[in-house]
Amino acid sequence: MRRLVLAPAAAVALAVAGCSLGPANDDELVIGVKADQPGLGLLDARTKKYDGFDVAMAREIAKRLGYGPGRVVFRTTPSSVREAELKARNVDLIVASYSITPKRKTQVTFAGPYYVAHQDTLVRADDRSIGDVRDLAGKRICAVTGSNSWRRVTEERGIAARGVETPTYGKCMDRLDAGEIDAVSTDDLILAGLAAGRRARIVNAPFTDEKYGIGLPKGDLARCEAVNRALTEIYQDGTATRLLHRWFRDSGLNVTTHVPQFEGCS
Ligand code: GLU
Repeated sequence: MRRLVLAPAAAVALAVAGCSLGPANDDELVIGVKADQPGLGLLDARTKKYDGFDVAMAREIAKRLGYGPGRVVFRTTPSSVREAELKARNVDLIVASYSITPKRKTQVTFAGPYYVAHQDTLVRADDRSIGDVRDLAGKRICAVTGSNSWRRVTEERGIAARGVETPTYGKCMDRLDAGEIDAVSTDDLILAGLAAGRRARIVNAPFTDEKYGIGLPKGDLARCEAVNRALTEIYQDGTATRLLHRWFRDSGLNVTTHVPQFEGCS
């Protein structure tokens, strides 16, 4: 995202001269990430630093696009605002457990996928009534605004679960603990982080492929191709495996470390 601090006259002069301004020193890349998904995108309230697999992938991509740590700015983008933030160009990229879907592709250009997650279901540790997605019929599930996950249950599979609209995944866990909902059904990478250190259990019955893409403003094809080249390198040089192991080795998940088939930028 270019935030040039130029006096108007200087900007006009450069524009008239047809000078290329970039990449100028004051250029920065603004990347949308999650703030409440441990293991993927988490903002440390004390240090104000983001960390997790998505954040680390974002840093690696930025580096390969020519943006070192001092020129990368992270911005919290909950599921409900991702398309709007890209459309408004408040962010250049989104790396935030963002599944590529046909509907989203009409509004967003996606690089990747950089990982294929699978939807599973998290319940309270002592709840034996839910063994797979079909058991969610009649149950209250977390419906995070802007997320695809609850639709996979109710709309795609026609399971009569009641979605309880909730702004973020962090709030879903508060509601599960408080008994206000019965289950959180979403991507296994998210659930692994949410379950850690809690009295909660993943039922281990995956039922979708969630192709995690890098979101770009619709039509930003040149940068999308550059991101795909970066992702290829990140897999080829072992970085992806290192990051996946770093964040998910102890999760019990069977993580895949080969590069997914790219969808192609459009
Ligand atoms: N991957 C799903 C989605 O993009 C669920 C996770 C999320 O909301 O970020 O909707």
